[in-house]
Amino acid sequence: MPKRALITGITGQDGSYLAEHLLGLGYQVWGLIRGQANPRKSRISRMCADLSFVDGDMMDEGSLVSAVDKVQPDEVYNLAAISFVPLSWSQAELVTEINGMGVLRMLEAIRIVSGLDKSRTATTGQIRFYQASSSEMFGAVEETPQHETTLFHPRSPYGVAKVYGHFITRNYRESFGMYGVSGILFNHESPRRGTEFVTRKITLAAANIKLGRQDKLHLGNLDAQRDWGYAGDYVKAMHLMLQQDEPTDYVVGTGHMHSVRDAVRIAFEAVDLDWREHVVVDPELVRPAEVETLCANPARAHAELGWRPSVDFVELIRMMVEADLRQATREQEY
Ligand code: GDP
Repeated sequence: MPKRALITGITGQDGSYLAEHLLGLGYQVWGLIRGQANPRKSRISRMCADLSFVDGDMMDEGSLVSAVDKVQPDEVYNLAAISFVPLSWSQAELVTEINGMGVLRMLEAIRIVSGLDKSRTATTGQIRFYQASSSEMFGAVEETPQHETTLFHPRSPYGVAKVYGHFITRNYRESFGMYGVSGILFNHESPRRGTEFVTRKITLAAANIKLGRQDKLHLGNLDAQRDWGYAGDYVKAMHLMLQQDEPTDYVVGTGHMHSVRDAVRIAFEAVDLDWREHVVVDPELVRPAEVETLCANPARAHAELGWRPSVDFVELIRMMVEADLRQATREQEY
């Protein structure tokens, strides 16, 4: 019998890479789809022809119980979230509902469908649960690099909601013996990254400026530093986390930090342009509370999962610029 996986957040960057990875491993994969005629469904259907869909909404407990009951998954990957940090100041309550309470709702759905209670005996087999935790939980970092037991100090409503999701997952593990783990993933990017995130904003602008379709690129804090990796590598770590004998949480990152300015320089060098002629620093884009630096210590993931990133920062930015150049050139020819 092939294993069955249910992925929430299927229409996002990580959802598509994870679905491809699991389908490649022989899984049957369902994506949770929200709303009527969701316009993002056709895109992911084109990318993954063998993917199935099930209706459900992270705001609606009953719909999650029905989805889990229908799919009867071996593994649930909760990637559903409002993922753009700045939005979390203007829609703090909504972000808390989806990114925080949504995790509780899915845990409850799994608990109900598997008949888990305090006696810790599941009646219908163990459903393993992956929660997409985030390096944003470290926020104003208490130490560098950050590992699994570094104290959290979130700096945005997004980060605060993710901390709730992280601890409620651990609590269901401790309360009900559920196999639930959190992957504390550092920033991970790809040509499929949303254009609102800084790496993709930069690589798309470099391509458009090269082709004469844009002149200026407005950015906020150029000094912010992140540990940026390739999303295609990170979904493999998600899967590995659910294959261990004992459930535990893992930090996933490259262990190397770069600034927004580095990303700009590498992207513009890739198209033979001088970034200083095009980048405008816009105070409007500076955040109310900034996360200045984030850097992973992925030692546990290396040792226990045997996980290693395959794409470094320079390769990542160049891969994204090349993809954006190809896409922009196609659009121009069209
Ligand atoms: P995040 O780490 O999940 O918030 O990912 P982002 O890609 O949105 O932001 C990474 C860093 O880039 C943050 O410290 C931002 O303040 C910084 N940054 C600087 N300029 C920009 C910009 O124009 N857009 C975005 N999204 N981030 C920017």
